[in-house]
Amino acid sequence: MSKTKTVYVLNRGSFCKLQNQGKIKCIRCQIEFEENDIIATSAASQRYCYKCASNINLVSGDVTKDLGLDGAFKETTNQIRKISQKIKAEKSIKILAIEIIKESFARSLIQSKNLTGLACAAIYFATVLSGQKNPETIASHLPTSFRVIQKNLLMLRCILMNSKLLEKFDGSYL
Ligand SMILES: [Zn+2]
Repeated sequence: MSKTKTVYVLNRGSFCKLQNQGKIKCIRCQIEFEENDIIATSAASQRYCYKCASNINLVSGDVTKDLGLDGAFKETTNQIRKISQKIKAEKSIKILAIEIIKESFARSLIQSKNLTGLACAAIYFATVLSGQKNPETIASHLPTSFRVIQKNLLMLRCILMNSKLLEKFDGSYL
């Protein structure tokens, strides 16, 4: 993406760069940024935490909109809602799956032609992360093949490397 983002997720790369420059605080409330925080940059190149940016109307306050998440994002989260209802997934799984998709879209330009496969992978990922005993059982109820789930899962894993969402997880399931 060549477009300069004024609202973005502070991924490891940007975080380290800011840290090296000694610019890791919100200019307004002085809170120290942490990796994966969502921050905003003003026209004068001042950095704000998302909350302060909302307070001074630098951003809309709608994080999905501010991060420029597009139609594919909405379609994928709709699919997650529909599929979760169909397979009677726990609410916490659905919420985590949507979080996974939100952060993935915020971090990366996702190019998937198969949004159902992506939605299924997010649900499967959320199931595994939640420590459910038989994620395979969930997988067998998802409306796509396990091969497609695995393919999308690898992509999500890669995009979400070092994400707080994965902190609790030891990463031994692949
Ligand atoms: Zn602030």
